[in-house]
Amino acid sequence: MRFPWFKFTVAAMLAMNAWAASALSSVTGMRLASQPEKTRLVLELTATTAQKIFTLTNPARVVIDLPATSLVGKLPAGEGLVNNLRAAKRENGDLRIVLDVRSEVTPRVTWLAAENGAGPRLVIDLPASKSAASSTSIDNQKPAPAAETSPVAAPASVPVTLSAPQATKSAASQSHARDLIIAIDAGHGGEDPGASGHRGTKEKDVTLAIAQLLKERIDAEPGMRAVLTRDGDYFVPLGERVHRARQLQADMFVSIHADAVENAGPSGSSVYTLSSKRATSEAARYLADRENAADLIGGVSLEDKSNVLASVLLDLTQGASMSASMEAASHVLEQLDHIGNIHHQQVQQASFKVLTSPDIPSMLVETAFITNPAEEQRLADPLHQARIADAVLTGVRDYFYSNSPPGTRVAQLKLTRQARN
Ligand SMILES: [Zn+2]
Repeated sequence: MRFPWFKFTVAAMLAMNAWAASALSSVTGMRLASQPEKTRLVLELTATTAQKIFTLTNPARVVIDLPATSLVGKLPAGEGLVNNLRAAKRENGDLRIVLDVRSEVTPRVTWLAAENGAGPRLVIDLPASKSAASSTSIDNQKPAPAAETSPVAAPASVPVTLSAPQATKSAASQSHARDLIIAIDAGHGGEDPGASGHRGTKEKDVTLAIAQLLKERIDAEPGMRAVLTRDGDYFVPLGERVHRARQLQADMFVSIHADAVENAGPSGSSVYTLSSKRATSEAARYLADRENAADLIGGVSLEDKSNVLASVLLDLTQGASMSASMEAASHVLEQLDHIGNIHHQQVQQASFKVLTSPDIPSMLVETAFITNPAEEQRLADPLHQARIADAVLTGVRDYFYSNSPPGTRVAQLKLTRQARN
């Protein structure tokens, strides 16, 4: 059954959005953060707007013009490649933001969708070295009208610094078997320190250390490759962590955290997967957004499918991911049990944003309680961090050797090993 009124309503709503965007938009917040490879400026807006971004030399500047836009939020202080920021309302109603930069840069521009009550965000990345930038023609890229509700990357931009594999999973042939991609997510970071222990150990430092050790181990495994959602002490929004993993078409997502409670008593590891309640609400969101999102779900576009077919496809994909998550999480929990005590004997289910990819098996590992003095000490100990990384690796490897996706090197290695036995 078709719903012509639905299409009409969507078109009318998009037209109204476009009108609203051209009539009025406000910058309600600005954040500047520097990382080793880039400096990132994030503008929080009430609505998407056309943007014009260009560079000037002598002295080097980056100019951002936003039509019919006002500035409500404050300008951040200079950081990283940006010495100073200025803003002014121009006579034509444009808001002009000028960044005084240390050296010539080629900015990269991305729009991030409105999400969880927050408005759309315009992300401007200034790569640390000129050679890192590839795009130059970024003037006047008006985001698609759908940017209000869907992730829309400006065409010439690369929103993340991780390199995305070009081949799709299904395209891998026998002779070119692909590596499994494991996205490792170090919880918290930057302005979000996470929990902290009585001696001052910060969760964000522990999670990063373990994530890096886990990456080394996964990269050393034949047929596996790890990518980190953050590789330094900086803030990455939860939605962007999920987005990065999906862009990379990761085969698994593992988020590393440390648990915390008021009193010092509780101890042990827990492993979580997404609750079915949250999965249901995420499915509804994906279905509602599918007219706008160019997103593939499990390699399939839902955009051109009927409501019924789309919901069946999504249901199948999500169901498969959730049972895979559960099985992989049990393998990891079993390994954690070998190196320390377990807080919850079973895999737990909860509503964590980072676990919401509909097509990537995902788990969150609460490695230990940072609020328990003995566990805090162990969490800060590189030897124990390595033990945790080993346990997670073994769990993930066990899972993939019992469930190897076709076309992967691990599937081939498994056959070779079976033939040898
Ligand atoms: Zn945490």
